[in-house]
Amino acid sequence: MQGLYVHIPFCVRKCYYCDFYSEGGKLHLLDDYLKALLTEAEQYRGLTFDTLYIGGGTPSILGAAALEQMMRGLSGCLGLSDLEEATIEANPDTASSEFLRAAAASGISRLSIGVQSLNDDELTRSGRLHNATQALKAIDMASGCGFDDISADIIVGLPGQTTKSLENTLCSLSHSAVTHISAYCLSIEQGTEFARHPPSGLTTDEEQAELFELAARYLKENGFVHYEISNFALPGRECRHNLNYWRGGEYLGLGPGAASHLRGRRFKNAPDLQKYIVGPLADECESETLDVESKLAEEAMLRLRLLEEGLDIAELEERYGRNNVGRLLARLTKLTDAGMLVREGKRYRLPPAMVMVSNRVFTEIIN
Ligand code: SF4
Repeated sequence: MQGLYVHIPFCVRKCYYCDFYSEGGKLHLLDDYLKALLTEAEQYRGLTFDTLYIGGGTPSILGAAALEQMMRGLSGCLGLSDLEEATIEANPDTASSEFLRAAAASGISRLSIGVQSLNDDELTRSGRLHNATQALKAIDMASGCGFDDISADIIVGLPGQTTKSLENTLCSLSHSAVTHISAYCLSIEQGTEFARHPPSGLTTDEEQAELFELAARYLKENGFVHYEISNFALPGRECRHNLNYWRGGEYLGLGPGAASHLRGRRFKNAPDLQKYIVGPLADECESETLDVESKLAEEAMLRLRLLEEGLDIAELEERYGRNNVGRLLARLTKLTDAGMLVREGKRYRLPPAMVMVSNRVFTEIIN
């Protein structure tokens, strides 16, 4: 299984909490960016992919014509004709019906919408450019354009968020055409507007954990499976592109800031739009080939994120050899004895109580 990730590093404006690599107000660079992107893609001519994920940034900022141009260019050099899944991210304020129709006509089967909340006050205070009505309209339009797989991102712990407002958001989403929900806990990251000017009304860690547990409970009661730490899906609607990532599969990332894991090597493009436009083939900023032990630890951490599937040690032994897995196994046993993991035969899983503090488990595995 091999995935292709394409990064669209443009946003209308930066949201106050966001530390993803994207640039606000630089849309005049879009044409040059698409040329650079296709130059980078050309390097991998002939590679075929099982999944495609166009993320950002704000991919819906491309509009219909630029999206079609980009998809034509990528399909001209990369094998995208047998995709099992193709996702594009969209924001409610830029997801026009023209864009959604063009996405569907370009073979994109799945839409991931940055809803974040269906409370207008929470949206405004977080610097989002849409309101709840626009978000629900975007979901309806996507469904009307033929998208069966629609995901919504929400944030837990937004300034001013309450149990009631979160429940309202979840209730509206679970009664909409949405088949998948990604729920991320707000964290204040360096370099963001929230770090420079901390907002009032932030939740404590305990309150945030309670809100997340409420969300998990609510979604479960409404038919969603909590399949990954931050992800919930109706049965069979899990994101296949991300499943490949969590299962330690290979993927190629195109665009500034995009990470790749290809032919056993990990590398990452520098998060710098201007430099990328000037020299898209010269901006690799990190590269490493992991030794077996680091690879095993990393794969174990990724697989433990999958709450239902967990980590099957027999599968790792088969791929990496029993001797190599020994040290990892000793750590997993220690964590199981401490109640931080549960074991069923050769399969390890994160218990519900550890979901919000999974980093404690991952630190023990990696150190
Ligand atoms: S959250 Fe999304 S829309 Fe907002 S700045 Fe970040 S990438 Fe752009």
